[in-house]
Amino acid sequence: MTPPADRDVRLEWIRCNACGADAFRAMAQIGPWQAGTCARCGLVYVNPMPWFQPDDFAPHTEQFYYTQWQHHLTDQKLRLAHRQMRRQLAAFELLAGARPELGRLLDIGCGFGLAVRAAVDEGWQATGLDIDARLVDLGRARLAVDLRPVDLLAACLPGQSYDFVRLVFVLEHLPNPRAVLEEIRRVLKPNGLVLVVVPNEAGLFNCVRKTLLEDRTQRLGTLIPPHHLHAYSPATLRRLFCAAGLAPRAMKTVAPHHPAYATLNQIEPDPAPAAPSATAAGRVLAKPLGAGFAQRAAIAALRGLRSAAAAAGLGSVLVAWARVASMPGAGQAKTNGAPFSLGQPSPELAPSPSQRAA
Ligand SMILES: [Zn+2]
Repeated sequence: MTPPADRDVRLEWIRCNACGADAFRAMAQIGPWQAGTCARCGLVYVNPMPWFQPDDFAPHTEQFYYTQWQHHLTDQKLRLAHRQMRRQLAAFELLAGARPELGRLLDIGCGFGLAVRAAVDEGWQATGLDIDARLVDLGRARLAVDLRPVDLLAACLPGQSYDFVRLVFVLEHLPNPRAVLEEIRRVLKPNGLVLVVVPNEAGLFNCVRKTLLEDRTQRLGTLIPPHHLHAYSPATLRRLFCAAGLAPRAMKTVAPHHPAYATLNQIEPDPAPAAPSATAAGRVLAKPLGAGFAQRAAIAALRGLRSAAAAAGLGSVLVAWARVASMPGAGQAKTNGAPFSLGQPSPELAPSPSQRAA
């Protein structure tokens, strides 16, 4: 991995976004990036943290296979986005208790706006933000939706103005997730909900890979710097919500091919491999069984195992809905059907100076 030139990236030592402690414990050196965990709460992150300029972000992310895939806009992806949006809106209505009269949706990290188009077609007033101006231009031209090439923290959106904020496979890319969640808390209506979907650091497959198979010069669990800068388990994500003044409303883990929350490249494997481990297993089986059959069988078997892991609460993808906390830390949530209490935040949860500056 080639880091951008020094002028492109600011490096800054940060405190833990979830608990505020300055207790980083390094565990791996991944190219120029140091990866590790907070010794107090277990949040996994990169430290010092790189801060990319928006103009440098697109060429930087194009090195990442998923973002490469994101740059191809097809009708099939749009149909998939519609199916996912209908399911997500159904979940929203279930958790919110009702559909708002004229629902307003904000999609952060919208890419070229597939979800925004889908929400508009479902009768919502939807806006997308993305710092990749090329994706925004493409989406505006092809999908005719309201997309803005701006960081949420610079967007100056009016307070209490959105019913539904989406942050789907975005939070793991952020250097300052708590600052972004605090801003989401500000723009959410009092009864609004935010949907956060991230890779699950505590997922069964990730834990097995981390223990047995991992090349720690390439990644640390789901942390893949400089693309994934934070990695979350259910516990650390709950703590982060709490620190940002949000209360989890519901939390569960799912398999990566889940129809409502999958990364679309898990459903439509184009052009990147759907799952490297499935591909590797397919290669092993290809000689005796034939390449096509072996690949399909390996993927089917892997999906079965991933679904079983999710049913046990150890899925590879973490899905969380949260609302504005009436009192910070007062929220109740459910995780895979079992209730839990968040407890009270400690005074040290105030943002560090670096986060305020961000
Ligand atoms: Zn911590």
